[in-house]
Amino acid sequence: MSRSESERPAEGVRTRAVHGPNPPPDGAMSSPVVHSSTFGADSLHDLTARQNQGPAGSFYQRYGHPTLGACEQRLAQLDGVDGALLFSSGMAAISTVFLTLLRQGDHVIALDQCYGGTITLLNWGAEHCGWQVTMVDAREPATWPAAFRPNTRLFHVESPTNPTLRIVDLTAAAALAHERGALLSVDNTFASPIGQQAHALGVDVVEYSATKSIGGHGDLLAGVVTARADLIAKVYKTRKIFGPVPDPALAWQIERSLKTLPLRLEAMNANALELAKRLAQHPSVLQVFHPGLPAHPGHDIATRQMRFGFGQVVAFEVRGGAAAAQAVVESLKLVRHGPSLGGVDSLVSLPSHTSHIMLGPEGRAKAGIPEGLVRLSAGIEDAADLWADLEQAIAKVPSAVG
Ligand SMILES: *Cc1c(COP(=O)(O)O)cnc(C)c1O
Repeated sequence: MSRSESERPAEGVRTRAVHGPNPPPDGAMSSPVVHSSTFGADSLHDLTARQNQGPAGSFYQRYGHPTLGACEQRLAQLDGVDGALLFSSGMAAISTVFLTLLRQGDHVIALDQCYGGTITLLNWGAEHCGWQVTMVDAREPATWPAAFRPNTRLFHVESPTNPTLRIVDLTAAAALAHERGALLSVDNTFASPIGQQAHALGVDVVEYSATKSIGGHGDLLAGVVTARADLIAKVYKTRKIFGPVPDPALAWQIERSLKTLPLRLEAMNANALELAKRLAQHPSVLQVFHPGLPAHPGHDIATRQMRFGFGQVVAFEVRGGAAAAQAVVESLKLVRHGPSLGGVDSLVSLPSHTSHIMLGPEGRAKAGIPEGLVRLSAGIEDAADLWADLEQAIAKVPSAVG
């Protein structure tokens, strides 16, 4: 009996998230966690065949492992592309892509608003690998074409960006990169594969911090790369060299999480939009950043290119600047104060003290990040409870009143 994808009619995204492309063996509901780093073969022919299967083979954990492979096939299917590879962190995924696609002297363009770790990686690559790096402003797409050079190999973007949720028109960015002979890479962490089908928009290579909504419970660190066959083969080669391959138990945890990703995403995104709307009407809130609000500059593009809502993250500026933001964060009782996003637990952070600390006040001003900005990642709790907590915390700020 076989229930593989090729024999089933076209299915919706929630169905695919639960069932994946191939059923686990022996009628099991979930893939067995095979705690074996090494796999014995019956013959030299068999051994060679296992090795030649690459990440889909059962050979040696860094090369190919059945529990990893099963999860990777699910991820590729959900992202609508040939292949996916798991990594031990989001940064391992992004680093491996850059190390694969950039040689000494190659030029890479990235957004100023990229994840801090990615900016650190680019600076490291400039110093250690001779990459030429140009940063462009996510708010000024008209300036991007001039940044390209004959040796530009890679354009790396995020959408939505952190923490002001800028939206990049991925179809236009892909067209620009391709016109100039470069590839477009997207860190799709904020949207997730369910929320944004980057490959269908023309993106060449996609990375995820699976630590965020893919894992979704604040209990694991992992990364994913997805790409078409030729590119994934190159990334696979680099992963084999550097070896940031996760444990089989982690792949199983991710497989389990993927089954509820559409449900979690709908719940988180609905809460984020509800809180964004309420915050926008609060007299003590100066600005709200969320792509689901019609006033957000990326609203129309986000409506076109995102699904299942506009993401979990809302950022807002409270009247009273940095001190007020700190008071809000420290007065919250239900919503915890910590880094990360996309989990079932709501979390707040102050970008000036976490994700964007290294920019300094001047860099943050240049990037359009107010000192009093609070970033909230909405979880799956009751919206009414989250709002009650936010309201009481904002009310504690003396300078925020009126
Ligand atoms: C968290 C995050 C990363 C880094 O992922 P890790 O799993 O922490 O290594 C990269 N990009 C974005 C957008 C992130 O939010």
